[in-house]
Amino acid sequence: MTRTGIGYDSHRFVEGRPLILGGVAIPHSHGLAGHSDADACAHALTDALLGAAGAGDIGRLFPDTDPAFKGADSIRLLALAYERVQAKGFRAVHADLTVILERPKLAPWVERIAAGLAAPIGLAPADVSVKAKTNEGMGFIGRGEGIAVIAVATLEAA
Ligand code: MG
Repeated sequence: MTRTGIGYDSHRFVEGRPLILGGVAIPHSHGLAGHSDADACAHALTDALLGAAGAGDIGRLFPDTDPAFKGADSIRLLALAYERVQAKGFRAVHADLTVILERPKLAPWVERIAAGLAAPIGLAPADVSVKAKTNEGMGFIGRGEGIAVIAVATLEAA
């Protein structure tokens, strides 16, 4: 039996923060605002995994009011959430992400982002797909105010 979950996350671009996606620091004029390191790829994937397992969501596991998670490494949070997934009797088999942003161009980085997301959930990089696209200049993403990430994860009974 397999189960599928979906996750979504968005973060606002600000000056003076690093841009971290999949645990990879990507050179850019702006980073993402957030209580943790604001790794929107890790957050969306975490919610997809938790959703597939019926194990709650990232906000319930790691409240942004908790000082313990201030500046947190979201890859570490992903690993902790995956322990919950495994405790429910599942393991990840595949994930697919779409990152929606105008800039920077992510094409040179998608394989490293995929590798960064795959390792903490016991997958090979080839089992995590990361795609980037623009929002054709429309809306908050089009204006360069922030990014959004959609993730889908598939689990099977361990
Ligand atoms: Mg987030």
